[in-house]
Amino acid sequence: CGIVGVVGNPQTTSILINGLKKLEYRGYDSAGIYVTDEQGHDILKKRVGKIANLQQALDTNDQGLAGIGQTRWATHGKPTEANAHPHFSEDKRFYIVHNGVITNFNELKQKYLSDVHFASDTDTEVIVQLIAYFAQQDNSSTLTALQKTLSLLNGSYAFALMDRQEPDKLWVAKNKSPLLIGLGDHFNVVCSDAMAMLDQTHKYLEIHDGEIGVISKEQVQILTLDGQAVQRDPYTVAMDA
Ligand code: GLU
Repeated sequence: CGIVGVVGNPQTTSILINGLKKLEYRGYDSAGIYVTDEQGHDILKKRVGKIANLQQALDTNDQGLAGIGQTRWATHGKPTEANAHPHFSEDKRFYIVHNGVITNFNELKQKYLSDVHFASDTDTEVIVQLIAYFAQQDNSSTLTALQKTLSLLNGSYAFALMDRQEPDKLWVAKNKSPLLIGLGDHFNVVCSDAMAMLDQTHKYLEIHDGEIGVISKEQVQILTLDGQAVQRDPYTVAMDA
């Protein structure tokens, strides 16, 4: 039950795995990562049990420039590989890792997604399928699709989203679950706890409930739900990894 993300770093896979190991203390039953490069070569790997199982499942060429990962503590759906995160939309365009519980996921599924094939029993999958649904409708931008989705979600969440059409970006949002943006040297990261990324950076930016973060290699934008830019200074965590 923690999430990590990296954008703009060729060591993405190992940063994600190390980050997930640092989050082990939060407890988990399964783990997974999604990693992509700018040519659209992507990998999705999930395993039940220890992070070491996930690490063993990786090949040396499972590398990329951006990615997301999660340690799961199942709340909806058994701890299986199919229910492990990252989850993806039916068209395999969007990928998400989520920490928390979406309390109205059944209502949202019935109202908007009755024609969609679901690959898992999780509440989380509703978030990513809804984003894809709104992105298809009127050919909306990812930001617009995300804003529409956020306005409908009830419950707690910290999530990181990737779009195969813009593999050099991460989108993040939170409500009542922890989430930080870490500022690296020509790359950026996200994490549930600074502990996960202290060997990458000591500089962090808070993201508040109801805000959206759009993160690339050189840039971090924080927006309110209605798209107003938020100015916020980073702070330094004076602690060692
Ligand atoms: N509710 C989600 C699930 O059951 C996320 C759980 C978590 O925070 O690990 O998959």
